[in-house]
Amino acid sequence: MTYTDTRDTGAKVDFKTAVMNGMSSATGGLYVPVEFPKIDVSKILKADGSPDFLKAAFEMAKPYVQGEIPDKDLEALIKDAYPFEPKLVQIEDGTYVLELFHGPTCAFKDFGARFMARAMSYFNKDQGSNLHILVATSGDTGSAVGSAFHNVPGLDVTILYPEGKISPLQEKQLSTFTGNVRALRVKGTFDDCQKLVKTAFTDKDLRQKFRLSSANSINISRLLPQGFYYMFASLVARAENPGKDIIVTVPSGNFGNLTSGLIAREMGAPIKGFVAATNSNRTIPDWIATAEYKARPSVETYANAMDVGAPSNYERIAFMYSLEEVRRLFAAYWLDNEGIIKSIRACKDSTGYTIDPHGAVAYKAWKDIKNGALDALEGIDITKPGITPNRPEWAGSAKNAAGVILETADPAKFSAIVKDATGSEPPIPERLQKLMALPDRSIPMENNWEKFKAWLSANL
Ligand SMILES: *Cc1c(COP(=O)(O)O)cnc(C)c1O
Repeated sequence: MTYTDTRDTGAKVDFKTAVMNGMSSATGGLYVPVEFPKIDVSKILKADGSPDFLKAAFEMAKPYVQGEIPDKDLEALIKDAYPFEPKLVQIEDGTYVLELFHGPTCAFKDFGARFMARAMSYFNKDQGSNLHILVATSGDTGSAVGSAFHNVPGLDVTILYPEGKISPLQEKQLSTFTGNVRALRVKGTFDDCQKLVKTAFTDKDLRQKFRLSSANSINISRLLPQGFYYMFASLVARAENPGKDIIVTVPSGNFGNLTSGLIAREMGAPIKGFVAATNSNRTIPDWIATAEYKARPSVETYANAMDVGAPSNYERIAFMYSLEEVRRLFAAYWLDNEGIIKSIRACKDSTGYTIDPHGAVAYKAWKDIKNGALDALEGIDITKPGITPNRPEWAGSAKNAAGVILETADPAKFSAIVKDATGSEPPIPERLQKLMALPDRSIPMENNWEKFKAWLSANL
């Protein structure tokens, strides 16, 4: 597969280059495959007609690595990456939750990070020097990446996270690694962390001295594997809902997850449309409503893994589709903190299902749409929580559609908020309980490029 650059369509690189560079150092643009081949869906169905997740993963990954990773190695890589699976759970008539938190760090980013770590390790095996991964996190990326790379030979990871802006459990998940994974707690926001990382990648000096790579959702090797579960879930939903449209609602921050959904749809996943659901960081809903893309500082919310004011994958979405196409394909929705609490409670009360604050944003967006929000678009004030006034082409059948809500984290990772909403604490999975006893090893860092650069120079 050939990959091009969102800022230079003349650029042509292979998968290895796209993975190892993370983003284009020449332009600061993001890599995108030049095509999204349709897969033969019959190849991934089991005898009973339901999809096989590992087969879906293999068939979907194959065209993107062809000529660079032989089939036998790809198969082994995928098997090693996914000892767990996504689970599609029906919570009420016409509404499913796609649980993406059954991996080691209890959040969906395990799917992308574990594939990426293995792809990088595969490509690094003949190199004489270490590859240094720099990653900025608003919560869950760092733990997924740290966990996915921990003790992988030839690679080390530096995680930057905004001090005091992630939950104590998330912090434990980042700061307790030993060996090749280090965490810097930055006095700033997630956007500051991301800026420090982006600046490092464009710094000639550093790039001459070290081999650097990224692991944020900007790396294409994280986005492609996230498409696997969209294929899997939409095929299950279609089998159970013949003749109905399938709409996927995606709680979004950097919009990597939603971009993966777009890729899966291009590859033949039976998804009619998407709902882009955000918290009060409504940069994308505002773009869809007004046609003006205005990045802004992030604001803190209860769904803090989505606290992103300048979503990096906007650039890929706008590269792949015109705004008109986006408006036909997506509904967009945003929800404030009060709405998040109410949605967690409403979901529990009416379905019995305990949803986390990120999934709760998607639940509310989908419920409103199911209840006819797309039929009442006049006079909408986009500065108030709710739907944006564009009417996607699937609006007419929305009430009868099958909805898949992505549940991106285990509710136990946000137990204080969930308890506040429902009155009871969700059970903590054993793999999280073990972490709480480990010592914090994070390193303090100013929000200052020169200081960060000096630290990298001394410590990589
Ligand atoms: C990262 C994350 C999101 C947002 O995903 P993007 O790909 O950045 O849009 C949503 N929920 C949780 C729990 C996350 O960790």
